[in-house]
Amino acid sequence: MDVKGLAAVVTGGGSGMGAETARHLAQAGAKVAVLDINKANAEAVAAEIGGVAIECDVSSDASATAAFAAAKDAHGPVRILMNCAGIAPAARVVGREGPHDLAFFSKVLNVNLVGTFNMLRLAAAEMSVLEPLNETGERGVIINTASVAAYEGQIGQAAYSASKGGVVGMTLPAARELARFGVRVVTIAPGLIGTPMLLSMPQEVQDSLIATTLFPKRLGLPAEYAKLALHIIDNAMINGETIRLDGAVRLAPK
Ligand code: NAD
Repeated sequence: MDVKGLAAVVTGGGSGMGAETARHLAQAGAKVAVLDINKANAEAVAAEIGGVAIECDVSSDASATAAFAAAKDAHGPVRILMNCAGIAPAARVVGREGPHDLAFFSKVLNVNLVGTFNMLRLAAAEMSVLEPLNETGERGVIINTASVAAYEGQIGQAAYSASKGGVVGMTLPAARELARFGVRVVTIAPGLIGTPMLLSMPQEVQDSLIATTLFPKRLGLPAEYAKLALHIIDNAMINGETIRLDGAVRLAPK
């Protein structure tokens, strides 16, 4: 799919991989709606790329519905959804204070998994009634963000890994269902990417994580994620799959 002139919605677009993908999409000629729960960050990125900033909590039905309506008003119906919003707090199943707080577990699932599905379902509904864009019959692309923690989560990542495992799990059934509309669903599972989420961790934690990376032995760049996203959008044969972007890192237990 040629992104030029197409409307794209990027969640978590105010920071990290979402912000960088918004920049790459805009540079390639897409009309970008930058969605984030952090309004100021969304506005900063949107101003930089000539996009539109929309405050949105991806885990809320009303907020997401309103955000898609605002994006449609600004740029027309959505053709590209980048699900980049997410949170990565850590907690042990049994910690010093007792069992894992259940509300905390639900919160992580709500943002990362329910939030991803919430945006996916609304984007898919909007895409499904559009005219195909090309001879292949493509109407749109949805790209989700999981994590290598979906496969080898560390101690303290029970909630995060469960949420990202859910994103991996929904990818194929969603792609199967949306195939009849010409809508692809693909998930990227990043390893260790140098974004505020990871760079806010103590240096020794970052160093020990980098040590488990095979090659290249460094943090991944948000631009490397953005480049993969743009390739997925362009390449119609990539569908229903989760692609690791991780320098062959395999996370250790801790
Ligand atoms: P980041 O913290 O820089 O950006 C995440 C953005 O999501 C922030 O702007 C935040 O405000 C927004 N957000 C949080 N909750 C939201 C909500 N309820 N509604 C709307 N927006 C919300 O992090 P990042 O590293 O760019 O992460 C992007 C995605 O990649 C996340 O899903 C994260 O879990 C995943 N991921 C990151 C790494 C990494 O190493 N950085 C690795 C694997 C997966």
